[in-house]
Amino acid sequence: MSIIKINQLNKIYNPDTIPVKAVNEVSIEFKQGEFTAIVGPSGSGKTTMLNLIGGLDNPTSGQILIDGKDISKLSASELIAFRRDHIGFVFQDYSLLPVLTAKENVEFIMQLQGRSKKECEERATSLLASVGLADQLHKRPTKLSGGQQQRVAVARALASKPKFVLADEPTANLDSKSTADLLDIMERLNQGEHTTFIFSTHDQRVIDKAHRVIVFEDGQIKDDIRREVSSEK
Ligand code: ADP
Ligand code: ADP
Repeated sequence: MSIIKINQLNKIYNPDTIPVKAVNEVSIEFKQGEFTAIVGPSGSGKTTMLNLIGGLDNPTSGQILIDGKDISKLSASELIAFRRDHIGFVFQDYSLLPVLTAKENVEFIMQLQGRSKKECEERATSLLASVGLADQLHKRPTKLSGGQQQRVAVARALASKPKFVLADEPTANLDSKSTADLLDIMERLNQGEHTTFIFSTHDQRVIDKAHRVIVFEDGQIKDDIRREVSSEK
């Protein structure tokens, strides 16, 4: 069963001046539990594609069905709620709220969802433990390394129990040790909790871990490769 089904998706920037076809007639499906890398040269449309799937940007035309629901038909406020409840985001610059601690950053979305204080605390604590930060709960982002901040971001992305997590170049600002650690955590969450991850990357070590690699070029899918990945580290 596909959780994401995309039909003839187009995104044209600046349609009235100098049009840029960032995404050009893309049709593709993603299944529950996939661990997918989107790769391709800079400017090939990876970020635009992730932003469209995540409802952060509107397509020029085409359909994006998430669990059968066409998100391009949602009103602005419905889309905000849908995003919050069903999609986890990880960005290359971590995008944590600087005045909040690690735990508060993870609790924040759950509080917006109206969950009890106790549930927010328990889930944030357990998610941060699962990304190896059990002893950093009360630190603010500036007191954490880049790798630790990105692990907070992964915990935050999972807080709402999303259907899938979108990550745009999640390791772009990490050193090789932090990259390997983050990938291990994402893989473990993928295998243990069947969390669906779709991430864009330029990093060969990240690409090597993907079970599916989608190659973008000029806004189109050039290749879509599924493969067995050995679980040995
Ligand atoms: P990638 O993530 O693969 O680097 P992007 O999705 O960022 O690719 O960009 C795809 C194309 O769309 C590029 O030609 C880029 O310059 C253009 N583009 C991206 N965002 C905008 C925007 N906000 N306005 C105009 N053009 C854009
Ligand atoms: P990435 O490689 O991660 O896609 P980029 O450097 O291509 O990052 O883009 C960074 C930001 O600049 C994005 O938010 C994108 O939408 C915007 N952008 C990219 N190209 C253009 C463009 N030609 N005009 C306006 N904004 C753009």
